[in-house]
Amino acid sequence: MEETIVMFPAAGIGHIIAMVELAKLIQTHRFSITVLLTTGFFDHPSIDDYVRRISAVHPSISFLRLPATTPATFETAVSVAAKGFSFLKRNAPNVATTLTEISKTATVKAFVIDLFCASTMESASSMGIPVYFFFTSGAAILSLYSYFPKLHQEWSVSFKNMVGVELRVPGNAPLKAVELPEPILDRDDPAYWDMLDFCTILPKARGIIVNSFEELEPAAVNAVAEGACFPDATRVPRVHYIGPLIGEPQQSGRDSKECLRWLEEQPSRSVVYLCFGSRGSFSVAQLREIAKGLERSGHRFLWVVKKPVEEEGANQIHEAAKPGDQLDLASVLPNGFLERTKDRGMVVEAWAPQVEVLSRESVGGFVSHCGWNSVLEAVVAGVPMVAWPLYAEQHANREVMVGEMKVAVGVNEREEDGFVSAEEVEKRVREVMETKEIRERSLKLKQMAMAAVAEFGSSTTALTNLNGRDSKECLRWLEEQPS
Ligand code: UDP
Repeated sequence: MEETIVMFPAAGIGHIIAMVELAKLIQTHRFSITVLLTTGFFDHPSIDDYVRRISAVHPSISFLRLPATTPATFETAVSVAAKGFSFLKRNAPNVATTLTEISKTATVKAFVIDLFCASTMESASSMGIPVYFFFTSGAAILSLYSYFPKLHQEWSVSFKNMVGVELRVPGNAPLKAVELPEPILDRDDPAYWDMLDFCTILPKARGIIVNSFEELEPAAVNAVAEGACFPDATRVPRVHYIGPLIGEPQQSGRDSKECLRWLEEQPSRSVVYLCFGSRGSFSVAQLREIAKGLERSGHRFLWVVKKPVEEEGANQIHEAAKPGDQLDLASVLPNGFLERTKDRGMVVEAWAPQVEVLSRESVGGFVSHCGWNSVLEAVVAGVPMVAWPLYAEQHANREVMVGEMKVAVGVNEREEDGFVSAEEVEKRVREVMETKEIRERSLKLKQMAMAAVAEFGSSTTALTNLNGRDSKECLRWLEEQPS
């Protein structure tokens, strides 16, 4: 009977792309892959094109649409995460039916799911299918989420109200309670309780596949291996660090080509690149402050600016730009800024081809919101960072980037609202662009990333073990034997 691996990513193009990258890696090793897609929430307009493109290039990866479903209705206002989690839970019966159908014609070797799809684990396990989580953040966040049920027991109020309290999490630097990832901040939001369920289920999986590599965050990797973050240190799941897994560059438009061309014309390591992920936008006041800081730094820059969303009292907005969002740069940035900096700076609206940008020789620094994909992309490119976390698990990532990886300098934000002054932007841009040590450390980490995915590297070995194949091991053994 054919052997297949079934994958179930959470809704949203980012989750799907990450899972498909894992699929590409695994299918080259042996199995066909079936990716289950939800319908009815976070559907992306380009998903059908994407699916066609992947299926054409990788015939062993196929996609199966689950029947349309909607999130539950709530009596009070809830977070987007809560709606998303309820949507995924409502898909669980369809996932179970689909797994049963697939099992009639193929042996399902494994069921690989996002953390947020944990409610589908039970039905797969009851069919005897080994369940693996694919964790798209690093080991430090894996430790944090695994430890969350313990934190929940230790405290009885919402973390968002614990101003001034620092939490100790194995493998992590002390974390401010109010800076924990949004879905676990507020006990009044259903997302909190869903996350508690997911994080309780997590260690029960056959294994956890992590998009990181062992040498990148050794403290957290050790904490996870020792089981300090799990409820029962004697029952630690197998954790496979198979990264860094970098997504294929997305198709580029005219602006993207232009900014790559511009980068080609700049001197080596002279440009600081600023980009805050798919969702990070700022208030107009903050954008102007960044502009001032950049201008004063004297460095060349490539800056991706998203439309500011005006919201009373908000300095940062965490929303994906919507198609058709228009941005009048001249009215948003300080008077004359674009003209004064036209010989040494480029401002791109909404989106730049980041993986390609970071690989350009002229890029010498990256002001980043500390999203895990951005971090890995910078590590692989050997580009040092200014760590400016905005949302999700980015504050915890900053601690790892600055304290452990030592490839980033952190920005100091205003305590009340996260506002960052022009002076601070100038200072940190200069620091990252002009400090030899941090550049050397970034290049060293790049070498380590390359070594991890090289033939006998830690990530390659982890992947081999995951596939249960010993062919690599026997080749290595042969190489060690006399002629
Ligand atoms: N990205 C990009 N161009 C942009 C903004 C983001 O190519 O202008 C890509 C980036 O390379 C990364 C992903 O979008 O692969 C963002 O993921 P990350 O985990 O860094 O942050 P998130 O958007 O999930 O907060």
